[in-house]
Amino acid sequence: MSTGSALRDDAVAGHVAAYGVEPAGVGFAPGRVNLIGEHIDYNGGLVLPVALPLGTTCSVSPRDDGALHVSSASVDGPPVVVPLDDLESGARQGWSSYVLGAFAHSRSRHSFEGGASLRVDGDVPLGAGLSSSASLECAVLVALDAATGLVHDPLTLALSAQAAEHEYAGVPCGIMDQAASMLGRADHALLLDSATLHHEHVPLHLQEQEVVLLVVNTRAHHELTDGGYAERRAACERAAAVLGVEYLVDAEPAAVEALPEPERRRARHVVSEQTRVRAAVRAFGLGDLASVGELFAASHASLRDDFEVSCPELDVAVAAAYDAGALASRMTGGGFGGSTVALVRVDDVVVVTAGVEAAFRSAGFRSPEVLVVAPADGARTLY
Ligand code: ADP
Ligand code: MG
Repeated sequence: MSTGSALRDDAVAGHVAAYGVEPAGVGFAPGRVNLIGEHIDYNGGLVLPVALPLGTTCSVSPRDDGALHVSSASVDGPPVVVPLDDLESGARQGWSSYVLGAFAHSRSRHSFEGGASLRVDGDVPLGAGLSSSASLECAVLVALDAATGLVHDPLTLALSAQAAEHEYAGVPCGIMDQAASMLGRADHALLLDSATLHHEHVPLHLQEQEVVLLVVNTRAHHELTDGGYAERRAACERAAAVLGVEYLVDAEPAAVEALPEPERRRARHVVSEQTRVRAAVRAFGLGDLASVGELFAASHASLRDDFEVSCPELDVAVAAAYDAGALASRMTGGGFGGSTVALVRVDDVVVVTAGVEAAFRSAGFRSPEVLVVAPADGARTLY
């Protein structure tokens, strides 16, 4: 990822090329990788994501034709044009739905009565479980603040971004991705209570232990917006209703065992994952990465066997990383493809990368994309 000034200059040049005018504001928001606490942000759980050094920029300028014009450096063709009067209607198709949703959800706070031109550009791999979608929504909201000189609370923007994803993209996501994008901090993970939105920044002490985060994008994509995510969420809601708890993470383990299938296994993952998040925060605090390794392995097994959202590519990436010397590894994000996250000693990065690539070759999978990342700062105004 480039520096802030290079990102700003690229965004301004891209905006001028697309619309012939300079932007009135430019925002940046990162993607995220979740360390642990998977599929529990819609069950009232604790989650531990970090913001990535990869992200999305959005530039915005006012118009006077009463329409939104939306374009992306990642998408060929002319801008998508939507009259402001048509913005209120709900879920729609395609990448621009995230942008239209974010604009619509912040409309009462901003004055773009004549319309607006928006352009986005980013380097978060799309659909890889690294939250390009939250990064896109949050970048739009920060750009609108930048253009109008307003400053909103990061959680207010995260909630607007989440609402946009629910209503316009049709994905019933939790709050983790948007909160991580808005609130991330360099060298820290965000410990977020998804029930209360209480949060703190947890130092990871990775640098002093000469350990890095290694993200493996498997490039596999099996389902997700296609119903798998919504189906898991619905099973969790059924389980919570039967058990009479507001949040499934608060269910008693013994009561969970009495549920019918598949609710029993889904709830078992949720309840056990919450315990692992607390233990991982303690272990990171003590610099005890051996324990983090056991917790990541248990989290992955639970997502694979109880929650059933892993896939062969994720399982191979995790196993190969441990075999090659990673301290910790697990699938991250919604699953059904996407990415894994590992903790790897700096000296072992080359060996672990080679081990994962070799395992993918032997399994006949596409070659994965391997990224070494450091926890980065959250969303900000660039211009
Ligand atoms: P993830 O958030 O893990 O990357 P999602 O399926 O939730 O996966 O979101 C990916 C979608 O977000 C893309 O398919 C695309 O519609 C949209 N998107 C994200 N970033 C951009 C971008 N820079 N340009 C166009 N569309 C984007
Ligand atoms: Mg997403």
